[in-house]
Amino acid sequence: MLADHGRPVDELLAELDRLRRGDLAVRGGTVTAYVYDTGRPEVHEAAARAYLAMLEVNTLDPTAFPSVVAMEKQVVGAVAGLLGGGPDTPGIFTAGGTESIMLAVKAARDARPVGGRPRMAVPVTAHPAFHKAAHYLGLAVDPVAVDPVTFRADPAAAAAAVTPDTVLVVVSAPSYPQGVVDPVPQIAAMAAGRGVPCHVDACVGGWLLPWLAEAGAAVPPFDLSVPGVTSISCDLHKFGYAPKGASVVLFADPAMRRAAYFASAAWPGYTVINATVQSSKSAGPLGGAWATLGALGRDGYRELARDTLAATRRLVDGIGRIPGLRVLGEPDASLVAFAGDGGLDVFVLADEARRRGWFLQPQLSYAGIPANLHVTVTGVTLAGVEEMLAAIAAAAAAARERGPAPVPDGLAEALATMDLSAVDDATFAALAASVGVDLGGGGQPEMAVVNAVLDALPAVTREAILVRFLSVLYG
Ligand SMILES: *Cc1c(COP(=O)(O)O)cnc(C)c1O
Repeated sequence: MLADHGRPVDELLAELDRLRRGDLAVRGGTVTAYVYDTGRPEVHEAAARAYLAMLEVNTLDPTAFPSVVAMEKQVVGAVAGLLGGGPDTPGIFTAGGTESIMLAVKAARDARPVGGRPRMAVPVTAHPAFHKAAHYLGLAVDPVAVDPVTFRADPAAAAAAVTPDTVLVVVSAPSYPQGVVDPVPQIAAMAAGRGVPCHVDACVGGWLLPWLAEAGAAVPPFDLSVPGVTSISCDLHKFGYAPKGASVVLFADPAMRRAAYFASAAWPGYTVINATVQSSKSAGPLGGAWATLGALGRDGYRELARDTLAATRRLVDGIGRIPGLRVLGEPDASLVAFAGDGGLDVFVLADEARRRGWFLQPQLSYAGIPANLHVTVTGVTLAGVEEMLAAIAAAAAAARERGPAPVPDGLAEALATMDLSAVDDATFAALAASVGVDLGGGGQPEMAVVNAVLDALPAVTREAILVRFLSVLYG
């Protein structure tokens, strides 16, 4: 309920601090997903001030606020310059990876109409944003298998997935789950040979791989300079270290960018011309991204990449030495996933690590890839990498001691056959409580049983449960 009377700003901010007490830390490197810390407070300060300066500017009408066009051209130009484009490479600043992908998929759908329902070939390791785009935009997804050892998309499987109605072939650089770069040159060439556009999802890697290469990493070709690549997405709110709400999608061809745009004159109000999914929106994220790029410069990103690479190498080596753990594949970037042997439940390990102050991200088994934990190594990780390894080793020993998560007998089977639409929210909350989930809010440190239950279920059941969970969480 809205208060009857306005409250003083100090009081409001004090309450905000209290509300945030259960949140994970956004700085310091102990949270190995969601947040990207440079370890340089002055950079985040520059971003925050520029964000605030642009906060009330509306990007809806670029003729009313020419600063938006000028800043966006600088930011898009910087990304194009790093990713194999030139000064004239067309691009769009978007609110995030999902929106960049949505626009790339829309452009592919509209640039090249097909006879039947449009389809796209998507590796099983690609981000769900492609499934979301397909869902919103009316496309069908043809999954592409990955190599079971390297986790890279299989070029033969990609070729086999292309049909006469395929409007887009997708590759990742790198894919998020195991941090490996798909064989972009082979798959893009195959797509070009069939006359189909190819999108490189470099959301997480676009603003990382080039700097890692400068720091001495072996980075396979993946950008717009690769023949057959028609679009690429790059999130600045990941390894660009910009505040959230910042991504860029680039197109090789201006006609393709026009196919991503939307205009409507079908009403008696102001003319609508949108480059993005959102219409009215704050220019704050654009200002924040612009200032972050400016505050770090090439030197800054190169130094962060040097630290990131050193931390990644140390982490991969260190995890390989912990009994019962193995790194999945050979990470090309700084995303590291590790699985446990039979006697070591990684979901229990994650809970044990959290008790020791470290958040590691659980990933459920899928498409033959085992359950594992994910660490996104960033610029700030190096300073604490030995502590992180010590915590993982201690958590692994504790997890082995505890054994697998105690899933109530028959629960997974019951859930798999249950008609969730017939279950009311109270019953669902009681079910969640039976596996230790408190839907009343607050932090949720013990997740092993929940993850083990989800892991035992097919993807469609997982999805139904997750939707219900969200709906109950928001009450
Ligand atoms: C993060 C990510 C996305 C989606 O980005 P959001 O900014 O969360 O919408 C897409 N692809 C990859 C590979 C990612 O890592």
